[in-house]
Amino acid sequence: SDQPTITFHDGNSIPQVGLGVWQTPNDTAVTAVKAALSGGYRHIDTAAIYENEQGVGEGIRASGVSRGEIFLTTKLWNSDQGYEPTLKAFDTSLRRLGTDYVDLYLIHWPAPKRGQFVDTWKAFIQLQKEGRARSIGVSNFYPEHLQRLIDETGITPVINQIELHPDFPQTEARTYHDMHRIVTQSWSPLGQGTLLDNPVVAGVAAKHGRTPAQVITRWHIDNGLVVIPKSVTPSRIEENFKVFDFKLDDEDMKTFASLEKDGRRIGPDPMTASF
Ligand code: NAD
Repeated sequence: SDQPTITFHDGNSIPQVGLGVWQTPNDTAVTAVKAALSGGYRHIDTAAIYENEQGVGEGIRASGVSRGEIFLTTKLWNSDQGYEPTLKAFDTSLRRLGTDYVDLYLIHWPAPKRGQFVDTWKAFIQLQKEGRARSIGVSNFYPEHLQRLIDETGITPVINQIELHPDFPQTEARTYHDMHRIVTQSWSPLGQGTLLDNPVVAGVAAKHGRTPAQVITRWHIDNGLVVIPKSVTPSRIEENFKVFDFKLDDEDMKTFASLEKDGRRIGPDPMTASF
């Protein structure tokens, strides 16, 4: 297919657009994943804490698309951090997914107060050596957390999945990532839907004859980000993937930049999150 991919520093590649399945129960995950894969998606983003790994696995098998063509991500939950607990939690995730490897395993949050993310990372390095986690990365890490992993293990995460949308563009984090060849992945790329009725976005959408969700998804692609918009509605899943036949121009990028002035985080701050 003609969907764009990004190559990690470990040599593996990730499709730039994937399906996010947060807040999706198992039965809905089956139909959403199946719809996505039938429509051409080849990248699914789940997590142990979403409690739908089983549904995601079922959706993959029901789609008829072979496992080898699919890029599958899951994440380690905070309470499973630490070397041995990580290895155990990983086995549980694989069993629920019904697969013998994941393409990407992420530490879901740094949870700095637990003080365990370096030991957790050492277990991730082991899982990659075993070939069961093809690539290893993190989520919600600040540059100082990333720097500790690099300093204490010598292994740089391939990706950092962080909250990022046009009105919260994470410029500082992206600069650090670029310096270290870490790919940036956007979670809540549509601002959890809050940007879809924004008049500035509507203007760009009208100019291109596209929907708001499509031009925002395109904004992430044109910024070199990996993007995982969430929907469980087949027509929207399809809509969010029809973004490979147009591009935003410099004027659009400037228009989008005007959103930054009232930008804010929607989710928790990883430094102070209570979990
Ligand atoms: P999002 O920004 O993708 O917005 C999703 C919402 O937008 C949907 O619930 C739906 O209401 C609406 N929507 C989507 N497509 C639409 C369309 N075409 N037309 C109209 N409305 C549409 O929000 P999200 O789910 O928070 O983020 C996406 C994914 O990011 C998650 O599913 C999950 O995989 C990941 N995520 C990761 C973390 C993390 O800590 N790593 C945190 C939050 C989310």
